[in-house]
Amino acid sequence: MAVPKRKTSPSRRGMRRSHHALPTEAHNECSNCGELKRPHHICSACGHYDGREVVAAGKALKGAVRI
Ligand SMILES: [Zn+2]
Repeated sequence: MAVPKRKTSPSRRGMRRSHHALPTEAHNECSNCGELKRPHHICSACGHYDGREVVAAGKALKGAVRI
């Protein structure tokens, strides 16, 4: 089994982890209710998309992510 020759220094470890930060979630305002929603997704608060109601308001959306 391959074994590292040296212990990873705190500096090296930090440099590696500098790329591990999570990106901010994209969001914009719903044109119907003003709630924050994901772009190109049905609004999880009012169920509207592209100016019309797609899903009944208040109904739990499967896989919906609230921001
Ligand atoms: Zn909405």
